Amino acid sequence: MTLIARKLSSILHEIREAELQAQRKSHSVGLLAVSKTKPSIDLIQAYQAGQRHFGESYLQEALLKQKELACYQMTWHFIGPIQSNKTRAIAEHFSWVHSVDRLKIAQRLSEQRPTHLSPLNVCIQVNISNEATKSGFSLLELPDAIATISCLPNIKLRGVMAIPRPETDFALQRVPYRQLYQAVKALNKPELDTFSFGMTGDLAAAIAEGATIVRVGTALFGARGY
Ligand SMILES: *Cc1c(COP(=O)(O)O)cnc(C)c1O
Repeated sequence: MTLIARKLSSILHEIREAELQAQRKSHSVGLLAVSKTKPSIDLIQAYQAGQRHFGESYLQEALLKQKELACYQMTWHFIGPIQSNKTRAIAEHFSWVHSVDRLKIAQRLSEQRPTHLSPLNVCIQVNISNEATKSGFSLLELPDAIATISCLPNIKLRGVMAIPRPETDFALQRVPYRQLYQAVKALNKPELDTFSFGMTGDLAAAIAEGATIVRVGTALFGARGY
């Protein structure tokens, strides 16, 4: 068993445990393996241990890996900041985008998604801790953003993604996720079934507050050396 296979198994165990603690259905939370900066061989090891969904933040790097890994049935998620001039390649080469932080980006992804592919799954990024340095819609802007993006063709609005300010205390980690989960649930839109919440440091808190996808890099692949 490789180190990555062992780490994968321990993260999946942690996810199942957190589901149980939160009285959530078993397997209601999926794992997105965040592989940015990691070499293709690491992704292959995770794949051979059963992982299928991979998250990347840097377009050029992701496209290179997709080429190298074309014979594996991997599902690719884009989770990084998006510049307008990158939307076409993202629309063409990914199944999911978690980091839609402006209407213009959603419109471009919709226009540029090739129609022979299934609709691009998207999540709206919400700046839940209201940090000036972080991108994303505010909670106040969220209802209008959802209404507008829901209507775009060729993309399918699935839910929300958040990266709250890092906290070490479990109870404090839960607060922003709870706020965002409740704000979305209040809109009564069952088609919004995705809460992309939680990373290595706070995945149990995120699962306690409704996460359906946790995005884990460090715990699976080790620290990133940029
Ligand atoms: C890098 C990254 C992650 C993974 O973070 P870890 O702390 O390494 O698990 C998750 N989400 C986003 C958006 C990221 O950019």
